[in-house]
Amino acid sequence: CSGEKTITATLFPGDGIGPEIAKSVKEVFKQAQIPIEWEEHYVGSTVDPRTGSFVTYESMESVRRNGIGLKGPMTTPIGKGHKSLNLALRKELGLYANVRPCLSIPGYKTRYDNVDLVTIRENTEGEYSGLEHQVVKGVVESIKIITRQASSRVAEYAFHYAETHGRKRVSAIHKANIMKKTDGLFLQCCREVAEKYPNIVYEEVIIDNCMMMLVKNPALFDVLVMPNLYGDIISDLCAGLIGGLGLTPSGNIGENGLALMEAVHGTAPDIAGKNMANPTALLLSSVMMLQHLGLHDKAETIHKAILKTIEEGKYLTGDLGGSAGTTEFTKAVCHNVQ
Ligand code: NAD
Repeated sequence: CSGEKTITATLFPGDGIGPEIAKSVKEVFKQAQIPIEWEEHYVGSTVDPRTGSFVTYESMESVRRNGIGLKGPMTTPIGKGHKSLNLALRKELGLYANVRPCLSIPGYKTRYDNVDLVTIRENTEGEYSGLEHQVVKGVVESIKIITRQASSRVAEYAFHYAETHGRKRVSAIHKANIMKKTDGLFLQCCREVAEKYPNIVYEEVIIDNCMMMLVKNPALFDVLVMPNLYGDIISDLCAGLIGGLGLTPSGNIGENGLALMEAVHGTAPDIAGKNMANPTALLLSSVMMLQHLGLHDKAETIHKAILKTIEEGKYLTGDLGGSAGTTEFTKAVCHNVQ
């Protein structure tokens, strides 16, 4: 490369279509001369007692050491007594915020041309933790825990993200009119953080109204910050606004800048190994990774090459209505890297 410092990043190619789309990222990075050296890790075939999951301790250590990683989709192996892979990664690495930029892709027509928003989801608590039990037969209980610490941390991340990414507004999404204590505390924390960012407009939107506004006119939103379960639902709705999960990247953020970016789709077992997978979501996740590392020029180069390839429309994969394979699409992206 050009004498730039090489950065080591952990790569989980994952299962199913994972290795095919990870190969695509490696090829595009090579073409664009990105100063990244990959440290590849695969999910183990047995539960590692040190992590309680199929993700090995060595893999976790690799992400912790490098502070940055890219992850393909993973199948959770069937078996009892282990944690889901994604949950294990999130918990072990303390990935407290999930970030999903949703940007309309020129050349890929959906109902909306003007989507440019980012959802930031609290990743560690709330209903989504699945703290549930049976009280007596026929009565079950779910416990929703919201803490000041986790709410302030994700709010801080959202405002910092807005400020450093040229965003103008942060909307806190809630149901505090009903969940007065839990969502009330979440909102209180957002308000406190908002005061430290006078240049960012702050607003609060009730989740049901937010969903209606999103489908009517997504341009009404900029950055959205929300508790875990609402984030799970809204982020998929937003992916739908731009054409689906195959085009949506995401990032999981932890303390001290630690980040693990990932495509949000699954392993697509129906097309795995057939050279049919669309690598766009993982490629866009790798663009997020480069932005996170401050390699903005490199990120821009790859981002432009992906958009150009889709806009040209000559080498689209089946999910985008084309007939090109993963390898042809990748070749076209490499060709468009300038
Ligand atoms: P899926 O996302 O794998 O597939 C849904 C549909 O979308 C399929 O028809 C598939 O072919 C298509 N698709 C997905 N990604 C595509 C791509 N990049 N290019 C072209 N087409 C694509 O969802 P699923 O079938 O519900 O799940 C399959 C497996 O993936 C399960 O084992 C599940 O646990 C796992 N999963 C993992 C993650 C993750 O690791 N983050 C996320 C979701 C699902």
